[in-house]
Amino acid sequence: MDPLSASATQIRQMIASGERSAEEIARLSLDRARALQPVLNAFVDILDDEALEQARRIDARVHGGETLARLAGVPVLVKDNICVEAGRTTCGSRFLESYRSPFAASVVERLRSAGAVIIAKTNMDEFGMGSSGEHSAFGPTCNPWDTGRVPGGSSSGTAAGVAAGVAPIGLGTDTGGSIRQPASLCGLVGVRPTYGRVSRWGLVAFASSLDQIGPFARTSEDAALALSVISGHDPRDSTSAQIETPNFMTDLERGVEPLVIGVPRQAHSHSNHSSVALALDTAVEVFEGLGARIVEVDLASTDHAIAAYYLVATAEASSNLARFDGVRFGRRGEGATLDELYERSRGEGFGEEVQRRIMLGTHALSAGYADQYYATALKARRVVKEEYERAFVDRGAHAILMPTAPEPAFELGTKTDDPLSMYLEDVYTVGPALAGLPAVSFQGGFASVGEGDRERALPVGLQVIGPALGEGQLLRVVRMFERVTEHHARRPEI
Ligand code: GLN
Repeated sequence: MDPLSASATQIRQMIASGERSAEEIARLSLDRARALQPVLNAFVDILDDEALEQARRIDARVHGGETLARLAGVPVLVKDNICVEAGRTTCGSRFLESYRSPFAASVVERLRSAGAVIIAKTNMDEFGMGSSGEHSAFGPTCNPWDTGRVPGGSSSGTAAGVAAGVAPIGLGTDTGGSIRQPASLCGLVGVRPTYGRVSRWGLVAFASSLDQIGPFARTSEDAALALSVISGHDPRDSTSAQIETPNFMTDLERGVEPLVIGVPRQAHSHSNHSSVALALDTAVEVFEGLGARIVEVDLASTDHAIAAYYLVATAEASSNLARFDGVRFGRRGEGATLDELYERSRGEGFGEEVQRRIMLGTHALSAGYADQYYATALKARRVVKEEYERAFVDRGAHAILMPTAPEPAFELGTKTDDPLSMYLEDVYTVGPALAGLPAVSFQGGFASVGEGDRERALPVGLQVIGPALGEGQLLRVVRMFERVTEHHARRPEI
């Protein structure tokens, strides 16, 4: 079996049994990353030394007859806003173009101690701001299903790399959809964990009350494995929950019974793409066929979630990004006075979208406007949260099923001049983020787009949203779906 199309568990097994060495697999993955880079532009740095050193350590363990850790020898990709001392940590920004982190994030330490081999840092929308992967200082990332289209964002490079078979697992971050939306556009499983489930220590902050790190994988099984490895309390992150970490693999095959799936009355109203409606309706039938009871839930706040999200996220971003002033981190502009130094550094270092967000956020927080904007957004956030609670508690739903994105992957360049239409791509993903809830995007079907030799099959994602700390349940629901469907097994030809 080709190790690069194998699951993480299979790769570990190949290494443990001596069928392949970890070094051999690391080299295959590094070579594939390098070969695809001109086509996909998914990587910021490819980490040969880091990867080969770790792989050799694993091989030494195999020779020493030691038991291997859970991800021993498994290639993984890491989004470039997560600190790793190897290579740079650029956040997709000119500002941090040559920034090297002196330390590794907690999630990276966890991956390493589980034996994972970090292959590359991945391209992303600058500081996580975007839904297409086109707002990177290092150029757009392309979708492996159709390189004329976007992979989604902001975790664009991880999604493209995992979908293209560079690694079975990758890390992204989801502030308002940046794991789930690219997972949907690239045909992957993407997990946004409950806020507090995964440590954010060593993640460059975008909007601290929303940011979460989570895994991408090709199947629920690999996603469950990766999530088990990176979850857990971390005293260095004060928002990390003091709870035990379940092994999400243990119960994965058990399913959920009886299963109640909530479908929002508004599930269809924000998408005009027939493939999305079809995928949702078909999935509902699949779950009914599996014995699930379907209940209608009301998420009327979906209409306001975008506005609330883009106020809260930009307000927090404007304050988080204040640290980039040209004095301590990254790029420094020329200036005779301190003000000039700030102005030039920020003016030259930040891209257009980041500057737009800083201005929006600063305005939303400014004296005289904060009540009108920021405080109102916080109220709307509360309403969103309460609606979800009602769906779980009063309606008894184990999971809420809805589209992840309003459409499949769109063509590169079609939304870059229209920020509002880009923001609307997040209509289904921002609600769970505002509510701090876990959500898992999975491959729900396919859309056929284009004509003649431009005809392509594109993945269409759906998401299940659960109550706080309900990731295990959600992954089991996705696994139930995978067991009776074939979508997740289909891979792009690249
Ligand atoms: N697309 C959303 C935004 O641009 C979400 C980004 C994210 O989750 N990092 O803000």
